[in-house]
Amino acid sequence: MTEIVITSEITVELIDTMGGDKSVSRAAWVRKDFTPPTPKSTTEGVIGTMMEKRHGTPFEAACFQFHVHAPIKVWREHHRHRIGWSYNEESGRYKTLEPVFYVPPRDRPIIRPEGFKSMNPKFNTILDDGEYEGMVREMKEAYADAYNTYELLLAKGVDRGLARDVLGVGIYSSCITTCNARSLMAFLELRTTEETAKRPSKPLYEIEVVARKYEAFFAERMPVTYAAWVRGGRMAP
Ligand SMILES: Cc1cc2nc3c(=O)[nH]c(=O)nc-3n(C[C@H](O)[C@H](O)[C@H](O)COP(=O)(O)OP(=O)(O)OC[C@H]3O[C@@H](n4cnc5c(N)ncnc54)[C@H](O)[C@@H]3O)c2cc1C
Repeated sequence: MTEIVITSEITVELIDTMGGDKSVSRAAWVRKDFTPPTPKSTTEGVIGTMMEKRHGTPFEAACFQFHVHAPIKVWREHHRHRIGWSYNEESGRYKTLEPVFYVPPRDRPIIRPEGFKSMNPKFNTILDDGEYEGMVREMKEAYADAYNTYELLLAKGVDRGLARDVLGVGIYSSCITTCNARSLMAFLELRTTEETAKRPSKPLYEIEVVARKYEAFFAERMPVTYAAWVRGGRMAP
């Protein structure tokens, strides 16, 4: 029986980029080089105007590629973002899935409070260490049972694509995700929660972990676009 691994870590690595703020202004100005069309034109100016007027297509001129390791429940939500996103996920048919499973970090808000409303979900952090540890132990036991059954089925020669059915959405999977800056902003608008947002969202904690890591790369690689997006209330153009 394989010993399973439990972790709260969700990783995002930036593996490639194409272009940046200047590619956006070049696309907006329709220039072959980066020369502004008038002496007064600037990348900051044109990006600010396009964000404000929701002239969105020039933001598709810059691309990001990430490697993300996250539980299946994150992928189930992430894959709903169809426009301007490409996904390549590790196969569960051609290889045996790694025994790596998600448990929440200690500070994750977990417990539904009295008067919980599903349309405005807010959770309390478990205050008691024993309660938290008990929950992690129960999750680990359930994961270990499921993975044990998976291995028993594989040992009987069952198709990997069928044996995996016994595993829940807490098992990890990796994807290469590729997107452009516009589709990234659309994702961040929906998958982060921020008081300053014009249309605040209430995403699942774990997909927000991914979103916040994407956001840090976005801010670093496209500071002008990022600043304009934040100024505009985090709304995708
Ligand atoms: C807090 C939250 C809760 C959610 N709960 C649920 C749930 O309970 N059940 C559920 O099934 N999903 C749920 N979702 C998923 C949600 O409905 C979307 O599928 C997901 O957020 C992807 O958004 P999107 O369609 O805008 O993204 P994309 O598919 O990337 O689309 C981007 C944009 O392109 C345009 N577009 C894309 N496809 C079309 C089309 N066919 N026709 C016209 N315009 C199009 C729209 O402007 C869209 O906003 C939830 C999402 C959030 C953020």
